[in-house]
Amino acid sequence: MMRSSAFANKSYAILGLARSGMATLDALHASGARILAWDAREELREAANDKAIIADPMEADLSDYDAIVVSPGVPLNTHPIRDKAADDGVQIIGDIELFAQARRSLPPHRVVGITGTNGKSTTTALLHHIIQSAALPTHMGGNIGVPILSQEPLAAGGVYVLELSSYQIDLTHSLDCDVAMLLNISPDHLDRYDSYDAYAAAKVRLFDMMDPDHVAIFGSTDEKTQLALQLIRAEGRVKNIMDSSAFFLEGQENWPSLQGPHNLENAVAAVVAAEVLGIKEHQWRPALASFKGLPHRMERMAEAEGVLFVNDSKATNPASTGPALGAYPKIHWIVGGLPKSDSLEECEPYFGNVVQAYTIGDAGPMFGELLAPHMPVDPCEMILTAVQHAAANAKPGEVVLLSPACASFDQFKDFEARGECFRNAVESVIENNLIGTAAGGSIE
Ligand code: ADP
Repeated sequence: MMRSSAFANKSYAILGLARSGMATLDALHASGARILAWDAREELREAANDKAIIADPMEADLSDYDAIVVSPGVPLNTHPIRDKAADDGVQIIGDIELFAQARRSLPPHRVVGITGTNGKSTTTALLHHIIQSAALPTHMGGNIGVPILSQEPLAAGGVYVLELSSYQIDLTHSLDCDVAMLLNISPDHLDRYDSYDAYAAAKVRLFDMMDPDHVAIFGSTDEKTQLALQLIRAEGRVKNIMDSSAFFLEGQENWPSLQGPHNLENAVAAVVAAEVLGIKEHQWRPALASFKGLPHRMERMAEAEGVLFVNDSKATNPASTGPALGAYPKIHWIVGGLPKSDSLEECEPYFGNVVQAYTIGDAGPMFGELLAPHMPVDPCEMILTAVQHAAANAKPGEVVLLSPACASFDQFKDFEARGECFRNAVESVIENNLIGTAAGGSIE
């Protein structure tokens, strides 16, 4: 865990005691801070009560507190804590800001901050793997699910690789990344921002916090990312700006866990960052091949009778599903869930790779209408039905891909539960020898 003299004898209120909130509590407590903590869930309040005063910050006088540490899950656009903090004159921060403040007391190190709408976790895990392969001390943390404050400080020369959601950036004010990376921007999370522009602006703040001599990387040719690049360039403050979307790397066929045009973009961005960190090609190239990937992101789940089953349950918007369809030439595509928009425009360039679509969830009927002019569509509603039909139709060399382009909450707790449901369905069709059983290729 990270202890820091920066927190000693200070007072903090913590709102939200899930994973990062608990890590914050432990780190602040071990560093000698006074803490008031709260969560709507009683069991979390109980777990905190030996380290903090348990009270609702909405009802406490916080005017002499140093900061309110809010979980990124709290919607700041609608939650009353925002007005309360303003009334009491206290700043709202998150655990990444605390990490930024603790950096002075850590051994010399560098920080890479990675943001974007899609590909953050993959790129964070990949860069972490590359740095590890080059035998440098490294931790990954932030949105990737491992709170950075829960980790031991790295030895001198270490590199912290932080995955940063826009919510986390909103709660961060002084993180000076040695390398700051914006992978891409497409419409998402619009319930938490006043507009698409406001969402994009939140991500761009990562560059406002950095030292002018540090390095900014932009990873995609999409409109908002390129606008952000032009904006940072026009400001002239940050000197080292790299547009990794203009670079190309050969050898993708040798990287099984980095398939698809999106993963090529991620790989290039990670390699550019690695080079900035001083890692050489003989170190990063083998790491691209040995990278294992993350569950639910273009995950090669099973191969049977020449048919590959790929789980991309984390593709919760059309911008992440589009390039997944670009990864293979003959796809049985399982798509649908809780839709985020009524368009599949970002997927259209890759429709030619789809043999047949199998729709599931709330979006099923709407997607069925959108897709029918372009490809055969099988309305399945449930994942099990979709996998059974797709497996029956699939021929050797083809791919059954779950890449839903939707949130999961219509039928599942989260994208992980949806991916597990797909895994079980795949196991059952393999066990029951259902692959390729549809006569003539398509079942009614
Ligand atoms: P994040 O952490 O930003 O949500 P992940 O790495 O978890 O990103 O990937 C989320 C989804 O987006 C996965 O389905 C993945 O295949 C897809 N994806 C990964 N990289 C990109 C990219 N550069 N552009 C678009 N989609 C991507």
